[in-house]
Amino acid sequence: MRHTLTIKMQSRKYSVIIESGLFQNIGKILGERFAGKKIALITDENIQQLYENLLKKQLDASQCDWEIIALPPGDTSKSFDTLTVIYKRLIEFQITRDDVIVALGGGVVGDISGFAAATFLRGIDFVQIPTTLIGQVDSSIGGKNAVNLPEGKNLVGTFYQPTCVYIDPDFVKTLSDYHFADGMAEIIKYACVADADLFSDLIRMKSHREAKLIESIIYRCCLIKKQLIEQDEKDQGVRMLTNFGHTIGHAIENLYDFRLYGHGQAVAIGMQTITEHSEAMGLTAINTSAMLKEVLTEYGLPAELPQGIDRKLLAQTAMKDKKRRGNKINLVLIEKIGKGYIYPIEKAELIKFIE
Ligand code: NAD
Ligand code: ZN
Repeated sequence: MRHTLTIKMQSRKYSVIIESGLFQNIGKILGERFAGKKIALITDENIQQLYENLLKKQLDASQCDWEIIALPPGDTSKSFDTLTVIYKRLIEFQITRDDVIVALGGGVVGDISGFAAATFLRGIDFVQIPTTLIGQVDSSIGGKNAVNLPEGKNLVGTFYQPTCVYIDPDFVKTLSDYHFADGMAEIIKYACVADADLFSDLIRMKSHREAKLIESIIYRCCLIKKQLIEQDEKDQGVRMLTNFGHTIGHAIENLYDFRLYGHGQAVAIGMQTITEHSEAMGLTAINTSAMLKEVLTEYGLPAELPQGIDRKLLAQTAMKDKKRRGNKINLVLIEKIGKGYIYPIEKAELIKFIE
């Protein structure tokens, strides 16, 4: 079943279309929309290898001039070096302001392509076709993009909305269990801050990767994200709820050099740690952390801080990460499952939620 959402941002209004099998027809869809334009499709080498024949068939069907730019997979591609390569290829392909960049991939491809689209010739049209669960429920919608610096992740970026987002839940079928679980952490996050029914459904469906269920779950997450970002395009109010678990999560990723824990795994530990503490402090309903732990475990996600971790150092790392925002941290807590809220604290108080 096809679901269409219209995202109404101040800077742009655009559609998010969610349908299993959508990619089998994407050439025709792009061709109708971008007739006479050139398509620069950015992807990564894993996706290119997995979907090469289908992808080329679809690009031919668009009847547009096209070229594929395939990046090495992984977060190291979110760099200025890669951007230089992308700009060079766009120039060689004689991309103009009337043409379009299509991002086919996970959050890495989406983020770097979005940044390239926002900056090349001061901005050209940009389409997202997310292929990971994180991409489909989170990074492809909302217009945030970024590249990493040697000094830290996502330090340079813009808000630049796509022209359209096409989500085919069938892509999830080829994801590794690890990357599937990573995406599930973001889904559990949405359930915790905004949708108690979704949380119950996650318990009921257990960890089955059945396509039909995934399709409706992706839709519900996109709907939640739509509601949050439309009210707060620049991440200064309710959109912050999407950061539940991320203050500690980012610090864990940092401490382990982005190697030991994937983003979702680190966020899972972050959500659990913060909720255990907020519950003990009377800021969250009793039994919430036990329910959260059950779901995280069911989906193969870690729910405990790594053994022997230096909690003071973890708090310091989290505080450093938030240095850019003055002395306060807007911590995201949940009152109960399905209801998140923002709890401003002094930075120094963060340790209470970790130790
Ligand atoms: P990713 O793009 O690195 O994808 C993870 C892995 O899955 C890669 O190895 C990739 O090649 C592979 N892959 C992608 N699609 C596949 C498929 N269909 N089948 C098999 N393998 C596939 O990372 P991610 O987990 O999608 O996203 C993480 C990135 O997203 C981080 O850089 C993070 O900062 C960013 N992010 C951005 C936002 C945002 O709002 N802009 C939100 C969340 C995360
Ligand atoms: Zn996240």
